[in-house]
Amino acid sequence: MQTTIRSAAIFDGVGLHSGAPARMTIRPAPADHGIRFKRTDIRLGNRVVPALWDAVEITPLCTRIVNAAGVSVSTIEHVMAALSGCGIHNALIDLDGPEVPILDGSAAPFVRGIMARGVRHLAASVRAIEVLAPVEVQTKAGWARLEPGQGLTMNFHIDFPDAAIGTQDKRLDLANGAFVRELCDSRTFCRQSDVDSMQKNGLALGGTYENAVVVDGDRVLSPGGLRHADEAVRHKMLDALGDLYTAGAPILGHYTGFKAGHALTNLLLRELFATPEAWRLTLCDERLAAQLPGVGVEREEIPAVA
Ligand SMILES: [Zn+2]
Repeated sequence: MQTTIRSAAIFDGVGLHSGAPARMTIRPAPADHGIRFKRTDIRLGNRVVPALWDAVEITPLCTRIVNAAGVSVSTIEHVMAALSGCGIHNALIDLDGPEVPILDGSAAPFVRGIMARGVRHLAASVRAIEVLAPVEVQTKAGWARLEPGQGLTMNFHIDFPDAAIGTQDKRLDLANGAFVRELCDSRTFCRQSDVDSMQKNGLALGGTYENAVVVDGDRVLSPGGLRHADEAVRHKMLDALGDLYTAGAPILGHYTGFKAGHALTNLLLRELFATPEAWRLTLCDERLAAQLPGVGVEREEIPAVA
């Protein structure tokens, strides 16, 4: 069955790029509502922004969605990953500014907040997007592919010149709460030189050594070091899960990201939906529903960080 959050969950923090205080409230929503954001700081006009692939504006640093009135919400990917990974299909998310709070730079605080409220089942079946044929997109930066598979599985490869990150590969089957156990606590990462140039351009003003893993060559500058030796590739998979959830429904297929990022995953969804023979909307029976990422999440398995 479709789900929503049982009661409202509030998150207070700052925007990673704006540095401005931000309050976000995930509220219950009815079946077939999907995930939508509402800008509560805007009084007039259309202030609801659907978290859908065709509302995504390609930006290099985060996933930003924009509605027809030009109202935007930035950095949605970590809360989207948490909703996908906890199996929440419907939610109205109030936000009092243009950017989702970054919290600790991972999705763990969102997962903890959602699971503390609990999941409510609704009287409607889940529809999933079943991948029927491979689609692939490529840019100078890398490539991303979706192909038919059992449940949702992911392969990711990254390759950074900084020895503190280097080359990392990970494969994961997202069934049985794997997102919560293996991905949700992995934080955003960047290089010190990127931080310096972003801040010169008025970006990453809310960034700290606590809400991002900052590296310089072979050194990890964030106190306490890494949460996982391969935290970087885990975070890229977290981002990909969040970005894939802008499909508007859970995806059943195999995703591969080769040095991919927000832009490539969005281009991949655009390619998928432009290829009618590559997918179909499937009403989930018990067998398919058991393969969805949010099934089997246990509260006691949420990593104890931040
Ligand atoms: Zn991220």
